[in-house]
Amino acid sequence: MKAAVLPAIGSPLAIEEIPVPVPRAGEVLVQVAACGVCHSDLHVAKGEIKFPAPCVLGHEISGVVAELGPGVTGLRNGEAVVSSFILPCGRCSPCARGRDDLCETFFAMNRLKGTLYDGETRLYRRDGTPLAMYSMGGLAEFAVVPATDVFPLPPGLPLADAAILGCAVMTAYGAVKHQAELRPGDTVAVVGTGGVGSNVVQIARLFGAARIIAVDVRDEKLEEVKKLGASDGVNASAGDAVRQVMELTGGRGVDVAIEALGRPQTVTDAFMMTRDGGRTVVIGLAPGQSAAPIEVTRLVRRSIRLTGSYGARVRSDMPEILSLAARGLIAVSQPISRRYRFEDCADAYRALDRGEIVGRAIVTLP
Ligand SMILES: [Zn+2]
Ligand SMILES: [Zn+2]
Repeated sequence: MKAAVLPAIGSPLAIEEIPVPVPRAGEVLVQVAACGVCHSDLHVAKGEIKFPAPCVLGHEISGVVAELGPGVTGLRNGEAVVSSFILPCGRCSPCARGRDDLCETFFAMNRLKGTLYDGETRLYRRDGTPLAMYSMGGLAEFAVVPATDVFPLPPGLPLADAAILGCAVMTAYGAVKHQAELRPGDTVAVVGTGGVGSNVVQIARLFGAARIIAVDVRDEKLEEVKKLGASDGVNASAGDAVRQVMELTGGRGVDVAIEALGRPQTVTDAFMMTRDGGRTVVIGLAPGQSAAPIEVTRLVRRSIRLTGSYGARVRSDMPEILSLAARGLIAVSQPISRRYRFEDCADAYRALDRGEIVGRAIVTLP
């Protein structure tokens, strides 16, 4: 099969011919239909997040079941499916509590070592060199995914576009539902309206936000997220974003500020635009050990809740997300602005790095 291999940190993606992986017990082989183009892959490719190389990136996929490993039930060959970037082991203590977002095995085996849960990758070059898997290694014609993370796609949803449910939508859903605890009538600021941020906008609308202020540095992105429910756009390059949000909210700030960029400045900004008693939720991953200054007395005296949010509770949230998408309450196509052919996936990441992608880009496979 063809796979987009990152040969070394800092080098461009290269399409290579490698053996089709074989699913082991409890795993599913998925023929990939599309893979989302996400900033986390870019962080790895640029060495900003530590990960072994050579590796296969891509962690937001839709596709069709091609083969079931031993013991897998409830799925059938040829069925359309989506998978999230968190592959819950289903056995660790956080998984037992339903906190798939904190799966210890996923972090220890996949995020640190690039393997599945028996400590081995499923991807190898023809000469036997192991290729680390970032999540399932979705930038390839086939991917092996633990069955805990394979969800049948409801009929009526476009297979390729549904890929974005696996990271961009799921991350937005987890942040809005669990960490922001968004309530109808809340005023929300979304700082950074890329792939994840634009989906935060539509999920915030779904949860009943009365007003959604989008903050970004590009007018075309601000215009586009209005189609997903943003009521106001603040261009941070046209002047202090915090001051602009304060002006829009009568000096009070927002009930919930969600930061989806992962930059120290925007984390501080999101905190500073949160009203007294409000919630600041950070979902953007930042390079290395980046730190953001937070005014301690403001945090304490104003009783602001500052929290991080990573993905979502896959096994309980993904069925909800799929049901909402099936009823048209979550849009899967509207956030997608570009569709790249697999051969051109390196171009997709270059465009993402230049800040050109409005919403989400996906790579589609024939
Ligand atoms: Zn992602
Ligand atoms: Zn686990």
